Amino acid sequence: MSPRDWFRPPRHLLALFVAATAFPALALGGLAWVSIGQDAALDRQRHQDMLDAAAGRIVSDLKRQLDDAARQVVSPGHDSSLTWPEDSVFLTITNDRTADHPAGRLLYYPRVPAVHTPRDAALDAAAALEFKDRNLSAAAAAFRGVAADPRRAAAVRAAAMIGLARCLRMSGRQQEALGVYSQLAGLDTPTVEGAPAELVARHARCTLLAEMTSPDLQTEAVILLRDLQARRWAVDRATFDFYAGQARAWLPSETASNTNGAQLALADAAADVDTLRRQQNGLPGGGSTMLWRRGRPLVLVWRNAPNGMTALVAGPSWFKRQAAGWAADNLTVTLTGADARLAFGSPDRLVKPVAMQAMTDTGLPWTVRVSSADPAKFPSLLTRSRRTVFGGLAVVGMMIVVGGFLVARALGRELAVARLQSDFVAAVSHEFRSPLTSMKHLIEMLDEGAVPSEDRRRQYYRVLHGEAERLHQLVEDLLDFGRMEAGKAEYRFEPLDVHGLIRDVAAGFEGQLGSSDRLTVRADALAVYVNADREALSRALRNLLDNAAKYSPPTEPLEVILDADAASVRISVRDRGPGIPRDEQTAIFTKFYRGAGVRRSNAKGTGLGLAAVQYIVRAHHGEIALDSAPGRGSTFTLVLPVAKGAQS
Ligand code: ADP
Repeated sequence: MSPRDWFRPPRHLLALFVAATAFPALALGGLAWVSIGQDAALDRQRHQDMLDAAAGRIVSDLKRQLDDAARQVVSPGHDSSLTWPEDSVFLTITNDRTADHPAGRLLYYPRVPAVHTPRDAALDAAAALEFKDRNLSAAAAAFRGVAADPRRAAAVRAAAMIGLARCLRMSGRQQEALGVYSQLAGLDTPTVEGAPAELVARHARCTLLAEMTSPDLQTEAVILLRDLQARRWAVDRATFDFYAGQARAWLPSETASNTNGAQLALADAAADVDTLRRQQNGLPGGGSTMLWRRGRPLVLVWRNAPNGMTALVAGPSWFKRQAAGWAADNLTVTLTGADARLAFGSPDRLVKPVAMQAMTDTGLPWTVRVSSADPAKFPSLLTRSRRTVFGGLAVVGMMIVVGGFLVARALGRELAVARLQSDFVAAVSHEFRSPLTSMKHLIEMLDEGAVPSEDRRRQYYRVLHGEAERLHQLVEDLLDFGRMEAGKAEYRFEPLDVHGLIRDVAAGFEGQLGSSDRLTVRADALAVYVNADREALSRALRNLLDNAAKYSPPTEPLEVILDADAASVRISVRDRGPGIPRDEQTAIFTKFYRGAGVRRSNAKGTGLGLAAVQYIVRAHHGEIALDSAPGRGSTFTLVLPVAKGAQS
């Protein structure tokens, strides 16, 4: 068994290991799965709760805003422009007029008080000259007279100027007519023909310039439209639409189209509120609702008063102002009014889970829906617990695997050692049994007097002595090995001539082999000294020679080669035997280990020889090297340091 095999536990151990690790791992995995599932459910619940709370907060915020609005609506005179954006307006609506706060926010008014031109005899006479008698010059003179008369009402004089300009125009005196219109526009006259005199005059100028195909038309029409949109005149919707329409018709489309949609929506809404108010039960005592005008959502908050009503109309900016806070809180909000019309937000951006507060429950004019803008930002228990669980699992799993591996390896080692030990016991028994058997046999023969000749008896005693010696040596070797292993071996170091030592061992070994041809010693003539225990070093060399002889065919030569340099001495024992496979080359130096091939061939041995050699070499501060390959023989080399100061 090579050391690598120790890391390869037997199959049943592997199965045990897998079973022992798989069950806890599966149980842990199951537990983790259940706990993650619970955390996910808990997370969903927490997320939903958080959104429900947010929706509740949004509803109460909106309610507070509408209540504020309702309070301001009751007395809208204060500086509401500070808190209400540009596209919102407070209205005070009475039977004959609608007022806006802050003033001038409406493009046009639902109604403006009608101003009638008082009847005037001179004016009627001038009109008769114009229409009945068709006497334009006389009519012009009569109109001029009325217009210039300071005793007459301003409205009458303005109407006379209109008549004068008309007569001049019809008589082909356009330039003069234009002058009269300009004069009228400059007067501080409130109304003529049911509209502001300035507006009527400037419009009439434009009409005339159009007839004359004058290049001045463009300039005047642009200013007229701009003044209309800048709310220069308080007009009703019909008047606004008429004059704005006329002005636009005179202008190229790109100049005409810059109408403020938000302001139009606001004015439309005001007009609608007025209409609703007049209808029977159109608007009950007070409340809030949504209006959609020109594709824009508007909030209406109103209170009825004894002689009319006060209201707030707020455009989309109001929603946008609310939304700033929602976005900061990582919320996506939609507000839908009656008929599921969208007042704010985009439903596509709602992601599950969604919290909802229905308009029927809250009394608000919208149903509120809330979701997280980015659900990933929701502080999730799950991600945290997942991380903890997986981290814990990884650690526990690793501990199980490493622990299992160590146990399996330790068991594998124990088993290997146990097997080696039983091999060793078998080998040692064998080593003892054969000499003991022959000794027993010889002793029996001697005892029975079955050996007649004295020579033969002596020979038997010699054999008995030899066998007893061998057994003694065997026991000594075992005891020596035990001492080496326990670190209790004693060495007597002295400078030794390596050459001499090799010669002595080789001679003894040749005697043992019974032949002097097989072993060759090749050594430098120079004597080399090492600091060594003669007995121990001889034993190491003998062990190597024993193995070389034992494991190679008897006909193959053996060599001992001595080689040295200034620092070290190398004593190599070379044979031409079977060689040692690479995967056994380390293991053979461990105690009890015997090569697979050797065990098959039943060669004698205990597996202690090389282990003992290694102990001895190490005690001499040297090392043992092996160069071997199957079929190519083996060379074991003892490398020892040269004795310092020893003389050659
Ligand atoms: P033993 O010789 O009693 O088996 P050793 O410790 O001396 O024990 O040797 C261990 C093993 O090394 C041997 O069993 C054998 O497999 C292998 N071995 C040692 N020397 C040689 C050699 N010269 N040629 C081939 N194999 C050898």
